[in-house]
Amino acid sequence: MLQESVIVIGGGIAGLTAAALLAHEGVSVTILEAHYQPGGCAGTFKRGQYVFDVGATQVAGLEPGGSHDRLFKHLGISSPGAEILDPACLVDLADGYAPINLWHDPSRWEVERQHHFAGSELFWSLCSLLHKGNWAFASRDPVLPIRSFWDFNQFLKALRPLNAYTGLLSKLSVADLLKITGSYQNQRLRRFLDLQLKLYSQEIADRTAALYGATVLQIAHAPLGLWHLEGSMQKLSEHLTSALLRDGARLLVGHRVVGLSTSRSEKEWDIHVIGPKRRSMQFHASDVVFSLPPQCLINFLAPNSWMNKKYISQLKKLPQPSSAIVFYGAINRIDLPEDCPTHLQLAAKDPGPMFISVSREGDGRAPSGQATLIASVFIETGDWCFLEQDNYQKEKQILLDKIAHQLENWFGFEPINWLHKELATPRSFAKWTGRPNGIVGGLGQHPSLFGPFGLSSRTPLRGLWLCGDSIYPGEGTAGVSQSALMACRQLMAARGQDIHIANN
Ligand SMILES: Cc1cc2nc3c(=O)[nH]c(=O)nc-3n(C[C@H](O)[C@H](O)[C@H](O)COP(=O)(O)OP(=O)(O)OC[C@H]3O[C@@H](n4cnc5c(N)ncnc54)[C@H](O)[C@@H]3O)c2cc1C
Repeated sequence: MLQESVIVIGGGIAGLTAAALLAHEGVSVTILEAHYQPGGCAGTFKRGQYVFDVGATQVAGLEPGGSHDRLFKHLGISSPGAEILDPACLVDLADGYAPINLWHDPSRWEVERQHHFAGSELFWSLCSLLHKGNWAFASRDPVLPIRSFWDFNQFLKALRPLNAYTGLLSKLSVADLLKITGSYQNQRLRRFLDLQLKLYSQEIADRTAALYGATVLQIAHAPLGLWHLEGSMQKLSEHLTSALLRDGARLLVGHRVVGLSTSRSEKEWDIHVIGPKRRSMQFHASDVVFSLPPQCLINFLAPNSWMNKKYISQLKKLPQPSSAIVFYGAINRIDLPEDCPTHLQLAAKDPGPMFISVSREGDGRAPSGQATLIASVFIETGDWCFLEQDNYQKEKQILLDKIAHQLENWFGFEPINWLHKELATPRSFAKWTGRPNGIVGGLGQHPSLFGPFGLSSRTPLRGLWLCGDSIYPGEGTAGVSQSALMACRQLMAARGQDIHIANN
């Protein structure tokens, strides 16, 4: 049995951030990662001469004061090399009108949106006001939802006067904001919002919490912004890994956690692991930071106590998040349009709206003169993980052809021009990232489930802390690193210590 002070389960961006923060505080910490490399949904894989970003392709929070930037500074490591995306994305509603550019410069964005969504400025002004309140609050590291006196104290410290007013809108949806500002009848604006919000909140405008939506709609524009990493998305994990190893943490890859139980005194956790060569192992720790989707705990925790049973039944009631189909292709640059966008959101009907990322010349993803093309479609998890092999391969081929066809049409090249194409399904995500049924992206940000009403990082089980994309503030690498900070602050506070991250 291997004794540790803290075991972090999962080496995606949430787990790596948690381990780096704790190691920086001098805590003895080991991170257990099932895959042979860390990174999870923000990792990469190699295919011949190409490097493909598995899931995440854009990074938020690298601007001064952004969540990654603050954490990197605190850890004393450099941020990975990155370029601001301007436009962050081209949004094609496939309605015969020109696509919409999400410009980084706010005044350029204002002109763009006035051109596309005339008469909606009141809506945007209200979003901007709500966002200001949200941001002032969020950047003071509140703890949400509140489950203890300490959490409540952190919440109070983060509150600004504006939050007294914006908080009144916490049960509204983005669609309600459209109604209040007289823009609900603007069909084109609603289609745009549905597309964007589905990407960032897993919900459409009618079902996205107004306070959450108001902020994600600002994410592409200064002073915030979206960034393209030099090299690949793996750089984010590499930087965090270098920090945690420097500070004495251990990263054990190829270690799959299969169960969690408490020792008789209920003061310590036993972590049951299948290690390399399928060896059963057991680790022992006073605290566990759990960065996998919380639904994994349903199978990991034994229902051997009243509290475990109660918590498991709470987790079983969580709504099922979406999964994704991701197409990974490569093409000669000459076959792409000259003004090819780096990121495109396309309202394709079949197989559904796509988010497309094209690598840049010299960005480390494809040889000179070539580009990688990644297209993701969010779908229901369905029965992908249970299909017979023949049916699975057939369904996979159908989707691969559909996506390839949409890309050929939009970018204007022939099927023969593909240098590479392959597809990941929910089954692939379940296998690569250990996510049950391939669920990705965390819980939808519905008014009943976002921020103050969401799942808490502080569990009712002593010494078990959650982080990752189902925990406040939600999905995305910037979001999950913030959730890791929250869980680590709670853990350290329980030990009588404080982690303070400077704001700039
Ligand atoms: C298709 C797609 C596109 C996306 N695009 C973007 C984007 O452009 N920008 C953005 O910011 N975000 C994007 N996201 C979301 C972002 O990738 C995730 O929110 C974030 O990376 C999740 O990090 P995490 O650490 O919470 O979880 P994960 O990345 O899932 O990490 C969990 C880790 O735990 C490991 N693990 C699983 N089971 C076990 C086990 N039993 N024992 C030990 N280890 C285990 C996994 O291997 C994995 O490394 C996208 C996601 C997807 C799927």
